[in-house]
Amino acid sequence: MNVAERMSRLGTESAFEVLARARALERQGKEIVHLEIGEPDFDTPAHIREAAKRALDGGATHYGPAAGLPELREAIAKDVGATRNIPVTPEEIVVTPGAKPIMYFVITALVNPGDEVIYPNPGFPIYESVINFVGGVPVPIPLRDLDVFERSASSRTKLIIINSPQNPTGGVLEPDQLGRIAEIAKRYRIPVLADEIYKSFLYEGEFASITRFPGMKDLVIILDGFSKSYAMTGWRLGYGVMPEVLAEHVTRLMVNSNSCTASFTQLAGIAALQGDQTPVAKMVAEFRRRRDLIVEGLNRLPGVSCRSPRGAFYVFPNVKALRRPSVEVAEALLKEAGVAALGGTAFGQYGEGYLRLSYANSEANLRKALERMRSVCARLASG
Ligand code: PMP
Repeated sequence: MNVAERMSRLGTESAFEVLARARALERQGKEIVHLEIGEPDFDTPAHIREAAKRALDGGATHYGPAAGLPELREAIAKDVGATRNIPVTPEEIVVTPGAKPIMYFVITALVNPGDEVIYPNPGFPIYESVINFVGGVPVPIPLRDLDVFERSASSRTKLIIINSPQNPTGGVLEPDQLGRIAEIAKRYRIPVLADEIYKSFLYEGEFASITRFPGMKDLVIILDGFSKSYAMTGWRLGYGVMPEVLAEHVTRLMVNSNSCTASFTQLAGIAALQGDQTPVAKMVAEFRRRRDLIVEGLNRLPGVSCRSPRGAFYVFPNVKALRRPSVEVAEALLKEAGVAALGGTAFGQYGEGYLRLSYANSEANLRKALERMRSVCARLASG
């Protein structure tokens, strides 16, 4: 079968490929520690599961409005308004199956062929994939290098994508850095897609959204959802907050693709937002302990150095001293040590020399992974 030319421009997310390979090794009897996939290993809190069961039994099994159930959009508007300290209306919200479709829809709705899009590199691979798919011109910005960012922005830039706390590094944009980005966005009237999916996973300081700067509300699309904060990755529930005019277009993209997000899942989302938040705090406290454990352990491995990230649940250790392409290091870890990790280049060319490990795993497994990594790192460091 001949596929359309555009498919050659669509990328992928290596985490899912490495996961599949790790599972294949498991089927052959190998024991693998999974540090490749970015999802909380916690169960969805009981009160959220109960709400979904009640919703199913109550008949919430039918189509709903394309943009989401009014009561969930209302609850999200309240929550986003409170967490970002801005006025938000339900009409500015589009609910989607997971937060990922918001990337796809917003880039599709805003970027014409030939338009430049600025995005972080290393960064979540789907940004670059979809920019290429729609014929946009990817303008990758090495992390935190705001001088390069300022030089790269122009009237040709049609969208800026930011992500804080960040995947894959766990880095967090400081308020003054967000302020510089906001200034540029306002100067050229460039919309900003702010991927805030990891906002709950912040281990030092307060969460800062770019929406806090005057005049930004009309330019920002917030991407957020339930997958990470409420350990609901498999439920597929996310949303975007955007100016109403854009929300209408994104809703039309929903009509053309998913029709709507599952109704009972949305009712569970209301329970998540309005119910007890202590499970979130407990999970974040546990992730913080794990971060400290893995950072300390990695810094003791030969040829590895690792900064302590302030957010998300990833570490991005420097393995340049192992003098191998990062995918080769990841491959050796999988095959020889049974530790599944990703090479930094899975997140773009500026990820070379690094690995990404997700510490959404038990302390016992993290210790096991660190121990098993030692001999592989020692061999590579000496060879
Ligand atoms: N943004 C980033 C930066 C992510 O890492 C992820 C998930 N890995 C998403 C968005 C998508 O989340 P969801 O599962 O809700 O689609």
